Amino acid sequence: MTRMLLIGPPGSGKGTQAERLSDRLGVVAISTGDIFRTNVQEKTPLGLKAKTYMDVGDFVPDEVTNEMVRGRLSSEDVKDGFLLDGYPRTVQQITELDDILGRNGQQLALAVLLTAADEELVERLLGRALITGRTDDNETVVRHRLDLYHRQTETVVANYAQRGILTSVNGSGPVEEVTDRVMAAIEKMAPKGVH
Ligand code: AMP
Repeated sequence: MTRMLLIGPPGSGKGTQAERLSDRLGVVAISTGDIFRTNVQEKTPLGLKAKTYMDVGDFVPDEVTNEMVRGRLSSEDVKDGFLLDGYPRTVQQITELDDILGRNGQQLALAVLLTAADEELVERLLGRALITGRTDDNETVVRHRLDLYHRQTETVVANYAQRGILTSVNGSGPVEEVTDRVMAAIEKMAPKGVH
C-alpha cells in the first residue's frame, strides 16, 4: 500500500517522475494537471471552468479541484494506494486530502519534494512549450506559476516537513538519475516500503 505525493515547482519534472515511479512502484499516478488538460480538450463542464484559470497560470479554485480529487480518490483502482502529482498546492487542499483519507482511516505516508533553481525551471518550461505547445508555458505565465508556487505551495511543503514525512530530492540532471535519487530517498524514509 502506497499513499504518497510528489510536490515541486512547475518544471521540476513531477509529471515525468510520477510516471516512472508509478511503473517502478506499481502504483497509480494521479496528475491533477493531466486530468484538467483532458477535460479542457474534451470541453467538459469541468474543463471549461478550469481553462480560464490554467491559461493564465492561476490555480483552479479549491472547491473545483477538491471535488475532482475527491471523486478520483473514491475509485476502485486507488483503494490500495496512489501517487499524487500536483496536489495539494494550497493549505485548503491539504485539509481536504486529510479529510478524504481520514474518513477511510488512512493517511499519507510520504511526500517527495523535487527541487530545481528558478532560472533552470523557466528555461525548461520555455523549452517544453516549443515541444508540447502547452499554452501555459509562455514566459509571463511561467513566472506567475512559479510565483504562486513560492507564495502558496511552499507552505504546503513546510506542513509536510513538520509532520516528518517530507523528503527532498535534487531534480536537476538526467531523468533516470533523478528517478534513482527519488527511489533511494523513498527507501531511506520507508525501508520496509511505503505503508
Ligand atoms: P501542472 O500540469 O501540474 O503544471 O498543472 C497545470 C495547471 O493545472 C496549473 O497551472 C493549474 O492551473 C491547474 N492545476 C493543477 N493542479 C492543481 C491544483 N492542485 N490546484 C489548482 N490548480 C491546479
